Amino acid sequence: MRKALQAVKSKEMENKTFVVMQVIEKLCEFCEKPLSKEEREVTTIQISNHDDYRNLLIKARAHDRVEIDLEESRIYLYDHDYPGDIHPSCVEKYSEKS
Ligand SMILES: [Zn+2]
Repeated sequence: MRKALQAVKSKEMENKTFVVMQVIEKLCEFCEKPLSKEEREVTTIQISNHDDYRNLLIKARAHDRVEIDLEESRIYLYDHDYPGDIHPSCVEKYSEKS
């Protein structure tokens, strides 16, 4: 189960190695809800102590949000991208309005 980084305590992450996954959510330009999602493994990191955890919290600010899966030992860094597409249903709504 993925939990927000802020909801995970330092102690739960210490002395573990995590696979860092980057998740790019492609958002619709009209409603800003995801059109699609890409996940890829970027690196692995070791959280040995509270300082490592704090560094992760600082790093997390650069991303839209960060989620942790403690069972799978994975860190998910979420970022947004606007590929210039809109949902087919949003195209209809948009053309009704204009
Ligand atoms: Zn949309």
